[in-house]
Amino acid sequence: MSDHTPEKHVFQAEIQQLLDLVVHSLYTDKEIFIRELISNASDAMEKLRHIEGTEKNIHQPTLPLEIHITTDEEAKTLTIADHGIGMTHDELVKNLGTIAHSGTKAFLKAAKEGNANPGNMIGQFGVGFYSAFMVSDMVSVHSRSWHSDGAGLVWTSDGKSGYEIEDSTDQDRGAKIVMHLKEDCAEYAGESRIKHLIETYSNFVGFPILLNGKRINEVEALWLKNKSDITDDQYKAFYQFACKAFDEPSYRLHFSADAPLAINALVFSPSENPERMGFGKTDCGVALYSRKVLIDPSPKDLLPEWMRFMKGVVDSADLPLNISRETMQDSALIRKLGTVISKRVIKMFEKEAENDPDKYRGFYRKFDRYFKEGVATDYANREQLAKLLRFESSMTEPGAVCGFTDYVSRVRDGQDSIYYLVGPSREQIESSPYIEAFKSRGLEVVYFTDAVDEYVVDSLGSFDGKKLVSVRHGGVELDEQAVDGDSLSADETTSLCDFLKEELGDRVVSVASGKRLVENPVIALVPADGMSPQMRQMMKAMDENFKDEVKVELEINPRHPLIRKLAEAKDSNPDLAKLVSHQLLDNALIAAGLLEDARDTISRMNTLMQKAMGD
Ligand code: ADP
Repeated sequence: MSDHTPEKHVFQAEIQQLLDLVVHSLYTDKEIFIRELISNASDAMEKLRHIEGTEKNIHQPTLPLEIHITTDEEAKTLTIADHGIGMTHDELVKNLGTIAHSGTKAFLKAAKEGNANPGNMIGQFGVGFYSAFMVSDMVSVHSRSWHSDGAGLVWTSDGKSGYEIEDSTDQDRGAKIVMHLKEDCAEYAGESRIKHLIETYSNFVGFPILLNGKRINEVEALWLKNKSDITDDQYKAFYQFACKAFDEPSYRLHFSADAPLAINALVFSPSENPERMGFGKTDCGVALYSRKVLIDPSPKDLLPEWMRFMKGVVDSADLPLNISRETMQDSALIRKLGTVISKRVIKMFEKEAENDPDKYRGFYRKFDRYFKEGVATDYANREQLAKLLRFESSMTEPGAVCGFTDYVSRVRDGQDSIYYLVGPSREQIESSPYIEAFKSRGLEVVYFTDAVDEYVVDSLGSFDGKKLVSVRHGGVELDEQAVDGDSLSADETTSLCDFLKEELGDRVVSVASGKRLVENPVIALVPADGMSPQMRQMMKAMDENFKDEVKVELEINPRHPLIRKLAEAKDSNPDLAKLVSHQLLDNALIAAGLLEDARDTISRMNTLMQKAMGD
């Protein structure tokens, strides 16, 4: 490349689309470009600080780590300069001319699908640099990489089709972004306007910001300060700036400890769940620092994965600055740190839920999947996490919820199980035949209505020493209940059961007289090792060839008139009794959501109706 002929490049197609969107569709919130560029400058200096720990040959090692912003009202320019890592020629091409990171793609996709307001998403997806083109018709990036063999370069673009790269002789290490403002954006060349914006958006940047030579921000690591010296507004501003969040924090935990580790942590839970808005799985949002120096903005191995929705900062003075991502993976120190923090976070939720159940409920509605994922995957915290689950039950009003702790506080003497049923809705669960036996004995049944609940309960197994038992399963021991009305005798019952087993053959595992039924003639129970209807549906969705014989344990109600009639008919009218037996089983399967193929059922029903009408 010669000094005089600029090297021309065209933007990758996706970048052009992105620029088009940024320039033409985002009329609101233009001012956020300042936050984006300051945050890039700050990132570049964080990276330099990190490199300093291991590299000796850094170009101009004594340059101060500061952000210098200058405004020029006459020339209508705004300049943001840093002494961070800078960019080499290849990095300029890659970082500013191609989609170098997946965030940009996700941004484009979300914007195309009309998801949310792109103005709000711009920083979230890391397409920050291009926001400069919202206010400029020409942007140049002067850059000198930290590598000792680097060179000064200028990248220039009008944000339309392409950019040029030229040599530059007098560039210090770092990057300097010069924005030539559009006519209608000339306000951003005004000092007071920019000062206000820096104070609004960037007060917590960890490096000094100087505007036309005057220091603007206060550099403070809020997490190291005393709780009593921080206002709610400061916390919120920190959350929104430092954690790049756009909503209000719902809860926060700020604590410091000296033993077993020196920890200062300030973490927040958001009020909006980005995964629910269809943005895919998010990365861990709690950054790891050591004495105010960023070690990793999104450490994978610090916190359990279900906690990825939390945002904030964990600072431990015990961590060596040069800890690499590889050593982090198997570092006992990181594990210890993670354990302490996750336990504190869970405790925090538990307390908050106790103090303000309504607020917690609203929060839980949006974030329940994380807690459920935690119960299923975070073995060490399982029982504590289970306390955070909320559900309706046979003892809550419709729409109200409770937790396992409430359930346990209400159990009857000697009850060593927690009963539950998984179903699509409260109404459907309540109308299922499984519930009545429990209700009539005053035993509480938890209603699980989320598709993943079954899996979660399976992983949990028990709570507070009480086994979780599905009321759909056979083998639940219930005490005798005095029931009014006539009943078949013990002998008659046994003989009817034998008849039914004989007739129904392989369709059932067993036929027995049940203690459960009050209103219904029969009930189909899933054997303790059998699959629930929800699980079957999932298996079928995953594998179209999935076939699993439905075999149930049939319980009959010897007090029910239909059963008493059937006991007579098996001797007086065996043909009819056989038809009725199969139909009873089908009805029980329908009620249980287990009937696979209704063709036989329908033709049998027709025959039965014909007989009822005096065939
Ligand atoms: P993001 O910062 O979220 O990755 P941007 O579009 O803002 O996305 O920037 C793209 C890339 O350009 C950054 O990842 C970084 O590698 C590089 N970059 C931007 N600004 C600077 C800067 N001031 N100094 C060094 N590199 C920068």
